[in-house]
Amino acid sequence: TIYLDHNASTPVDEKVIDKIVAAMRELPANPSSVDHREGAAASAAVEEARERVAKGINARSADIIFVSGATEANNLAIIGTMRAQNKTGRTRIVTIATEHPSVLEAARNTGAGTEIVVLPVDDQGRIDLNLLESELKRGTALVSSMAANNETGVCHPLSAIGRLCEKYGALFHCDLTQLTAYHPIDVQSCNIHLASLSGHKMYGPKGTGALYCRRRRPHVALEPILRGGGQERGLRSGTLNTSGIVGLAAAFELREPRLKIAANIADLRNALERRLVQETGAFVNGGEADRLPNTLNLSIPGIEPLALMRRLSGQITFSSSSACSTQSVKDSHVLEAMFGANTERTKCAFRLGLGFGTTKDQVETAAELFIEAVSGIRQGRVGSAA
Ligand code: PLP
Repeated sequence: TIYLDHNASTPVDEKVIDKIVAAMRELPANPSSVDHREGAAASAAVEEARERVAKGINARSADIIFVSGATEANNLAIIGTMRAQNKTGRTRIVTIATEHPSVLEAARNTGAGTEIVVLPVDDQGRIDLNLLESELKRGTALVSSMAANNETGVCHPLSAIGRLCEKYGALFHCDLTQLTAYHPIDVQSCNIHLASLSGHKMYGPKGTGALYCRRRRPHVALEPILRGGGQERGLRSGTLNTSGIVGLAAAFELREPRLKIAANIADLRNALERRLVQETGAFVNGGEADRLPNTLNLSIPGIEPLALMRRLSGQITFSSSSACSTQSVKDSHVLEAMFGANTERTKCAFRLGLGFGTTKDQVETAAELFIEAVSGIRQGRVGSAA
């Protein structure tokens, strides 16, 4: 089958697998047990990984906290900073309607006293910077904006958001999950104070991730959610996942040369997009916005995504809306924010996510299969109506 669901999860690169397996074999001790040689070896591997991950986003290694994935990173960033900020009387958080549920739900559950402002987006999934600025003027503790959307690939202007946060003295949290594999990132030049990363969206292992939390100029106060043994400077207790952390770092190592060829994925995506638009009358959701190179979110009028998935089952793997949430058939909150509830555009949307392993042949075959399936569904409907 042709795998076009890289936004939901990427395959783990073979080189990453080799490093994970080696770490599992060779580093059995607890990395916190630094009083013996085996523990010190595991600890050294974790610290080397920390350097690598930090370098990948232009951060200092002391600012990286290893966690279980971006869900945890988003929760720790938002709940952890708001709990610390609430003590200082700054209680507003500004976020965006199209954020991942782990951001929106965390913002709704920071505890009593937090005021949440959810910014709308336009029909291309873009925010209005003037609106953000007018919210910031009212005094805000934290702005949480993703770098790129998991359903549409639409990217937000991080430098501009960072500048506004700096101007009004707000902290800037950025969910980098979907962007990391395909785009260079500089947390310092974008004035990002907190950033969430996930291994399994960048050809690394599932259940791995990191939170970047700036500890200098200004120092970002963070309260831990998981308390216990005090690992990760007390900010995230729990035995470190040595092999997973080594795997995450290996994914960052692979990422560097690949960033240079991410444009090739955009060429393939654009070719697929052109064909499907021409042959099926598909609308491209977020098509006029700045987008990730790999993501294509389409709505084909009258074609139910689940019917399309059934027809193409075993041939193409893709997603009807956001496999990142659950298996529920609830309409996508991202597309609802762009088009409104109960619109055909929202109901008929599906997502194709290409990756570094996607070939020109696969894209051509996928286009043919989609076109055939759509006309099959349309003919079937005419047949049954007759
Ligand atoms: N944020 C975004 C934008 C995502 O796409 C995902 C995907 O699931 C997450 C957060 C959650 O990441 P994880 O699966 O590592 O918890």
